[in-house]
Amino acid sequence: MAIYQQNGITINVEKRGPQAKGKPGFDLRYGKYSEIITRKYEFAFNLNGEIKFIKGKGSEWPHPFEQLKRTDGNDWVYYSCGKEGGEKGVIFWLGEYYLPCLPYPSNSLDRAEYFSNPVVMQALGAWSMLYGTLYELRSKGIYGKDKDFVERILAHDDNTLQQRSKRLQEIIGDRVTVLPPDTRHVDYEVIPLSISQGCLYHCGFCCVKSSQKFRIREKEDILGQIEDLKDFYGRNLENYRGLFLGDHDALAADLETLTFAIGEAKAKLNLGGNGAKQPLLFLFGSVGSFLKSDPKLLNALNDCGFRVYLNVGFESVDPETLKHIQKPITKEQVMDAFRKMHAVNANYYNIEVTGNFLMGERLPEGHFPSLEYLLENAPGPSRGKGAVYLSPLKNRGEDEDLLTRYFKLKHISRLPVFVYLIQRL
Ligand code: SF4
Repeated sequence: MAIYQQNGITINVEKRGPQAKGKPGFDLRYGKYSEIITRKYEFAFNLNGEIKFIKGKGSEWPHPFEQLKRTDGNDWVYYSCGKEGGEKGVIFWLGEYYLPCLPYPSNSLDRAEYFSNPVVMQALGAWSMLYGTLYELRSKGIYGKDKDFVERILAHDDNTLQQRSKRLQEIIGDRVTVLPPDTRHVDYEVIPLSISQGCLYHCGFCCVKSSQKFRIREKEDILGQIEDLKDFYGRNLENYRGLFLGDHDALAADLETLTFAIGEAKAKLNLGGNGAKQPLLFLFGSVGSFLKSDPKLLNALNDCGFRVYLNVGFESVDPETLKHIQKPITKEQVMDAFRKMHAVNANYYNIEVTGNFLMGERLPEGHFPSLEYLLENAPGPSRGKGAVYLSPLKNRGEDEDLLTRYFKLKHISRLPVFVYLIQRL
């Protein structure tokens, strides 16, 4: 740790989060990072020198645990502790300690306008000012590890960070418009690898679908992405534990593509680094691709070396609702897939299948009662697995009604239930 009194900053080049390679908890700064502390703020940087977190220190800051986090897609997300505690607290909604408040329109249940709070906005201004301070420090002379660190930060100004997020999109072919809800286990910090594009259904209600027909990427293309991703993440690669196979229905890719992509990514990206806990793999599946997945494919996933989180979009068990949202599947198919979710969770140690259902007051009246019945009579979780995520529709009606519905469902469900907020990368 070095104190630069004249510039009013303290530099700590080598910090290690309390859960170096594990799941983020209350302290989000896991893995290795560097830190600069000023009188009013704490700034944290990843191993490439890219700004990652800003937290205010004074009494004006909304809450001592709240902070801003910059994603690899260059979004500044405000991590809120929520307005309420106890049984209505954030951990009961999301299963995590923080509510990510997104700077773009999403399906959030919380209307808190953190980005119009001048105290929060000033923190972003303070980051620009810090940048100026570091320039000055460099011109006056700074040495050793501190110098290297400051050089890395100065090489990543706002414009460069923006360009880098575009580069990430270029590598994988498009922006990740939605991450699986299970990526909360690594605080949405995943390396995206696109093995397919588009989806099977193109449902009417969906706000993240692409217009493309479903297609599987060539092996050469996947290998090229992995090489470029390795380059892109550079030194900071060691801080990642999660791989996301994109995009909307990677399970619909064939067994060969899936195993090839997983094997190559595992070998070349060395996810989790040395001595890491088991790396995590996230992917979406549709009802169709999940029903089609045979024991050969499931065994391959189970034995691939990752803990696999497969998230399936059920949406509803009410035929009227499926019709209303223009999802071209039947209630019977949803029920079959729901039963299969339990069977896979019970029989495959390294796979957790989770499912999504919709929430929204403007859905047909059969939706909530059928969902209540399903969750109330579901088999309990197998090996603690099988979470159900409720995804609020955009333009869904009054939030208060919806939250009441949500807490009722959570209360009666035999499976763990959480809210799913659509987050991009
Ligand atoms: S909900 Fe899933 S399957 Fe339906 S359009 Fe959206 S991404 Fe495709």
